[in-house]
Amino acid sequence: MSLLAPEAPLYELPDHALRVIHALESAGFDAWVVGGWVRDALRGVEPQDVDVTSSAPWQQAKSCLEAAGIAVRETGTAHGTVTAVVDARPIEVTTYRVEGSYSDHRHPDEVHFVTDVRDDLARRDFTINAMAFHPRRGLLDPFGGRADLARGVIRAVGDPRLRFEEDALRVLRAVRFACRLGFDIEPATHAALVASASGLDDIAQERVGQEMEGIVSSGRVGWALLNAGEPLFHAIPELRAMRGFDQRSPYHSYDVLEHTACVCKAVEEFTGGLASDELRWAALLHDVAKPLCFTLDQEGRGHFYGHPQQGAKMAERIMRRLSLPNSLVLPVRTLVRLHDHMVMASGRSIRRTLLKFEKACPGRARELCFALIDLKRADAVSKTPAAARYAVEVDQVTMALRRELASGAVWKLRDLTVSGADVMAETGIAPGPGVGIILDGLLSSVVNGDLPNEREQLLAAIRLRG
Ligand code: ATP
Ligand code: MG
Repeated sequence: MSLLAPEAPLYELPDHALRVIHALESAGFDAWVVGGWVRDALRGVEPQDVDVTSSAPWQQAKSCLEAAGIAVRETGTAHGTVTAVVDARPIEVTTYRVEGSYSDHRHPDEVHFVTDVRDDLARRDFTINAMAFHPRRGLLDPFGGRADLARGVIRAVGDPRLRFEEDALRVLRAVRFACRLGFDIEPATHAALVASASGLDDIAQERVGQEMEGIVSSGRVGWALLNAGEPLFHAIPELRAMRGFDQRSPYHSYDVLEHTACVCKAVEEFTGGLASDELRWAALLHDVAKPLCFTLDQEGRGHFYGHPQQGAKMAERIMRRLSLPNSLVLPVRTLVRLHDHMVMASGRSIRRTLLKFEKACPGRARELCFALIDLKRADAVSKTPAAARYAVEVDQVTMALRRELASGAVWKLRDLTVSGADVMAETGIAPGPGVGIILDGLLSSVVNGDLPNEREQLLAAIRLRG
C-alpha cells in the first residue's frame, strides 16, 4: 500500500529529477515534473523519462544547473528546452511556454514564454498529459486529468476542435494514447477528431509514421480501425477503400475493414497480447489490396486474385512512405505476400516455407514462420464459422514446425554439409555466381527431401551437376 498523500503519484521522483528541481529552485525559479512521468506514476506504471517545466528562461536554467555540477546540452533552445544530464540520465527542462497561432496545422508560428505553470499546462494536448507534480506541493491538475485517468478517457484540454486544428498530429496522438492505455475517447473529443482528421494530410509523413507505429505496436489497432477510422484513413489512405467493402463471398461474413480489425484482434489473442510488430503490421495490411483486386464471377461471387502479391507491394509502399525501417518493412512485405500461401503439416512444406522467408529476410525465417502461422490462424477465425475449423489444421502446422526445428531442419545454405569451396574443388569452376547456383540447387533438393544433407551424397550430386 502506498504511504503517499492521496494526490501524490504512486512512484517517488527519482533522485536525478530531485537534483534538477532543487538546482532550479535554489536559484529562485519554479520547477515541476510534467507530462508522461506524472501520468504513468498515477497509473501505477513504472514511469519512463522525466520532463521538467520551469519558470527559468533556458539560458538561466542552463547556468544554474551547471553551477550545481549538472551537465547541460542545448537540445531545443528555440522552444526553450535544454537537456540536463545527471548520472548519465537525461532530463528535458523546458521554460513555461504557450504556442502562438498555427497557420499550417502543424507548426506554431511562434512560441511565447509565460510565467505561470498553469498556462503551460493549458497548451498541452490531453487532460491526462496536462498534470504537473512537485515533490513538496504535490499534484497540480487543473483540467481533471486524474479523474479522466480513473475513468479511462482521453479528453482534449480546452476546445477539442481548436486544439486539433492547431496541430493535427494530436488527432493521431489521441488514438495512440487511447490504444496504449486501452481508454475510450471522450465524445466531444472524438467528434472533433473526426472533423479535423483531414489536417493530417499536411503533417510530415515521418511524424505520421511514428504515431502509426505507436498505434500498431500498442496491439489495439483493431479497436482503432473500428472506433477511430477517420484518423487512420488520413494516415494511410489505402485503408479507406476497405471500409464497407462487401466481399460477395460465402467465405466471409464481414466487410474487408471489419475482417481486418478481427484479424488484428485475433493475432493478439493467439499471442497473449505479445504479437511482434511485424505480425501486427501484417495483420493490418494483409488484405489492403483486396478492393483493388476484386472481380465478380458469373455466379456473382467475389474473388481477389493476386491480392497477396499486390498487397505486399502496397504494404511496402505505405511503410516506406511513413519512413518505417527496413527491418520492419521487409518482413511485413513477405508476410503479406505469403499470407494465403498453402503451408501443410509436413516437413517438406515447412522447410519450403522457411526457405522462402530465409531468401526474403535472411536470418529471420524461424520467427517469421511462426508469425505467418499466427496470421493464418487469425485470418481463419475472422471469416465464417465454417472457415474457423481451419484454425485447428493450423495448429497441426505449428506442431510440424516445432518438430522440424527440433530435429535440425535445413533451410539455409550455411546448414548444408558442403560449401562453395567444395563446389569449386569438385567441379573446377571459378568463384562467381555459378557456385551459388549449384549450392542453391542442392539446398532446394535437401529442403524438398530429394537429397539427404549428407556430405558424401552432396559431393556426388555436385560432381553430377558440375
Ligand atoms: P510518451 O510516453 O509517449 O513519451 P509523453 O506524454 O511523454 O508520452 P511526449 O510526446 O514525450 O509524450 O510529450 C511530452 C508531453 O508534451 C506530453 O505529455 C504533452 O503534455 C506534451 N505534448 C507533446 N506533444 C504535444 C502536442 N503535439 N500538443 C500538445 N502537447 C503535446
Ligand atoms: Mg515522453
